[in-house]
Amino acid sequence: MKTDTIAAIATAMSDSGIGIIRVSGNEAVEIVNKIYQNVHREKTLEKYKSHTIHYGFIVEEDETVVDEVMVSVMKAPRSYTMEDTVEINCHGGILMMKKILSIVMKAGARIAEPGEFTKRAFLNGRIDLSRAEAVMDIIHAKNEFALQSSVKQLKGSVFDKIKKLREEILYEIAFIESALDDPEHISLEGYQERLLDKSEHIILNLNKLLDSADDGMMLKEGIHTVIVGKPNVGKSSLLNILAGKERAIVTDVAGTTRDILEEIITLGDITLNMIDTAGIRNTEDVVERIGVEKARKISEEADLILYVIDASMPFDESDRDIIKMIAGKNTIILLNKSDLKEVLNEQSVVDIMNDIVSENLSLKKIDNCQSAKEGLEKDEILSYHKIEGIDNPIYLIKTSTKEEYGIERLILLIKDMFFHGQLKYNDEVYITNVRHKEAILDAKKSMFEVRKSLEMNMPEDFYSIDLMSAYVSLGMIIGEEVGDDLVNEIFSKFCMGK
Ligand code: GDP
Repeated sequence: MKTDTIAAIATAMSDSGIGIIRVSGNEAVEIVNKIYQNVHREKTLEKYKSHTIHYGFIVEEDETVVDEVMVSVMKAPRSYTMEDTVEINCHGGILMMKKILSIVMKAGARIAEPGEFTKRAFLNGRIDLSRAEAVMDIIHAKNEFALQSSVKQLKGSVFDKIKKLREEILYEIAFIESALDDPEHISLEGYQERLLDKSEHIILNLNKLLDSADDGMMLKEGIHTVIVGKPNVGKSSLLNILAGKERAIVTDVAGTTRDILEEIITLGDITLNMIDTAGIRNTEDVVERIGVEKARKISEEADLILYVIDASMPFDESDRDIIKMIAGKNTIILLNKSDLKEVLNEQSVVDIMNDIVSENLSLKKIDNCQSAKEGLEKDEILSYHKIEGIDNPIYLIKTSTKEEYGIERLILLIKDMFFHGQLKYNDEVYITNVRHKEAILDAKKSMFEVRKSLEMNMPEDFYSIDLMSAYVSLGMIIGEEVGDDLVNEIFSKFCMGK
């Protein structure tokens, strides 16, 4: 293991009040001692106790003062990396931080690779891999949920869960091995049934984690949402209200996998990745502008369709096209312009849909929005309609984007739809990492093999092999079974100084 001393700027590369240069390794104290002087201009760093912070100066080789600083000393093993660590708090100008970093390098440190401090924390055994990844997720959290679940993972929620499952699997492997080694004393009679029960239990737990991954990743990454509807129904008004809501954080990004522009709108707990909003903002009709085929493709990729209808106008052919498109997707139909004289209501929409998709659809009124919290305005009565008799959930609510009516309810309804009203910040473990999800899928496959071998009455060493591979797959999550390559790849995605 490398024990050389690394250094990096740990704070953002922008002008700010304070900048921190972090130094970690065997020689961290010795190196900073060369360039730090206390108020009496003495080099006293090596005398300081661990976990203390000191006022003084960073000086050049010729002892000219570079900056006024506070330096904190954290001795091994009680530091982030478990190595001797010194943090120099200097003035947060980019030039100053870079200058001090270069002085630290001259004194003997090497520049850290991205994520190298956290990698050391992992390699030195202070945190497992799932916790190390949580550190990164905290830094990149886009919404309240992502933040809270990452903090929980950093505390070890995923680690604890995975460790427990691995222990259970290991117990069975050990039992089979000992029985095969010592058949006179350990009997495998009746064991197959017990292992079958155990396998079911493990598969159940893996399934629970996988279920949480679907919610978890959508919460973390955002719900891919598209707004559709004819021109002039209020699509851009809706988008503007959502983007302008208190606590909404709007970021423009080019859609990565989908060659479509996305705009990220974070509304407290939830993040909506609004697809292809450019067209909407120009008040062009998305369907008209990009063609029905492309619109269909976008809608197919979306997790959620917001279909805006002008409820003061009758239905026409374009609406019929859109209705065909939404049959099969998670949809919320907004009966917009509800401040005007009503021409369409929930029932008339269902009648039209019955006509088009020729099914026996009916309306159900849902009075209690599960995600509702106290303190909402009276006129945001928390009820909505659901269309029954169709596979995908289609909900209907009345809105007025002019009067900003029904918007709060829309947000609550989205929470109800995707998280069953239970955005839980309690003990629930959410898997939010694709790498973890894949490892759990692999483990599940192996456990299916175990079950198959048991059902086919195969000899014991058959299932012990598959148990072992389930054990190894789960180990990947916490970093017990990963090679250097993967470790390097994971940490290379980190930011500098972390
Ligand atoms: P888009 O073409 O679907 O994006 O529709 P816009 O958001 O540009 O709205 C078209 C027109 O309808 C504008 O004049 C809006 O002021 C008006 N409008 C939008 N929402 C409402 C509403 O809820 N009630 C009323 N009365 N007018 C609305």
